[in-house]
Amino acid sequence: MNNQELIAQGEKYLMHTYGRLSMVVTKGEGSRIWDAEGKEYLDFVSGIAVNGLGHCHPAVVEAIRKQSEALIHCSNLYWIEPQIQLAKLLVEHSALDKAFFCNSGAEANEGAIKLARKYAAEQGYSERTDIITMGQSFHGRTLATLKATGQEKFHKDFHPLPEGFSYVPFNDIAALKGAVTDKTCAVMLETVQGEGGVVPADPEYLKQVRAFCDEKGILLILDEVQCGMGRTGTLFAYEQYDIEPDIMTLAKSLGGGVPIGAFLAKDKVAAAFHPGDHGSTFGGNPLVTAVGIAVVSAMLEPGFLDHVQAISSYLWTKLEGLKAKYDHILEVRGKGLLVGLALSHGGSDIVSFAKDHGVLVNCTAGTVIRLLPPLTVTKEEIDKAIAVLDTAFAEA
Ligand SMILES: *Cc1c(COP(=O)(O)O)cnc(C)c1O
Repeated sequence: MNNQELIAQGEKYLMHTYGRLSMVVTKGEGSRIWDAEGKEYLDFVSGIAVNGLGHCHPAVVEAIRKQSEALIHCSNLYWIEPQIQLAKLLVEHSALDKAFFCNSGAEANEGAIKLARKYAAEQGYSERTDIITMGQSFHGRTLATLKATGQEKFHKDFHPLPEGFSYVPFNDIAALKGAVTDKTCAVMLETVQGEGGVVPADPEYLKQVRAFCDEKGILLILDEVQCGMGRTGTLFAYEQYDIEPDIMTLAKSLGGGVPIGAFLAKDKVAAAFHPGDHGSTFGGNPLVTAVGIAVVSAMLEPGFLDHVQAISSYLWTKLEGLKAKYDHILEVRGKGLLVGLALSHGGSDIVSFAKDHGVLVNCTAGTVIRLLPPLTVTKEEIDKAIAVLDTAFAEA
């Protein structure tokens, strides 16, 4: 079947929850993917920051093959060797002490929310149930994470949503200080906002948030589902801020394409969970955690994160060049290989022009072209993407 025939079947049999581009993806390798008619694209979306190692990375393919021959699933009724090893890897390379594995970013945030409330209760503050999140944040599509998401447009028509969330403008310490009450148990924010338009936390702001949380005895939860796992040039984005979170959530790139999420916490916080408090049937199963080990190990290879830093500064220089050339690019922002081009107009025409010319980019928050190339991207691939974007902006 060609692209059009497949899409007609998709329209018939799938719920219409996504505004999809009219292409069917059938194959991927490194930074490239192919559609059902064999057309090749340079992929600067990476499954929305999931394919951090590019498509079908040999280490990921090999981990799937090897683990699928040994044990795919058992249950958390038993100890799982790769789950233990992946937890060890993440703990040894982060400021957190314990891990819990689940299946997606939303589930990781759900778990973090539960843990923050449970920790408050164990401290004798069971009235502290509320979490403050940021305007333009994105934390997921389940009912609680939808409510945690500080964008009303996602809430409409899904009420009633769980209680206990309020919002303050991002990067505004005074607003946060004014919003904390004696019912607050945590502040949750994305170290670099992704869906909301690619906005990093200001370094000074995040330090002030950390100090304020300590002063009030409330927890700081960092959602690094999109900005974590090497994307900003360090394994976790918070490492560039000289602060440590109490809880951090991960997903997207952690599994290199297999569905896995995690939340990590400091020992004293993690101790609030006892057997029966939280769980997941699939969470941390042998297959996905074996793949997670392969992904994290590849990212910890000497030179990998150096490459991310070097290649992202190359990309930023090129994007600054485009900005200098076109008035309608207002700003280049983000961190590392999580980059946004803020435009003075809607970005969908740029996305479809680029797609027609063999380069996939994404538009978020209506006017921000988001670039999420694989962390393994090369200069030549960046040059090609920039050339296509250059023409796209010239025509816009
Ligand atoms: C994608 C994303 C989520 C949700 O992850 P899912 O795996 O889609 O549930 C949560 N937080 C952030 C910051 C994200 O980018």
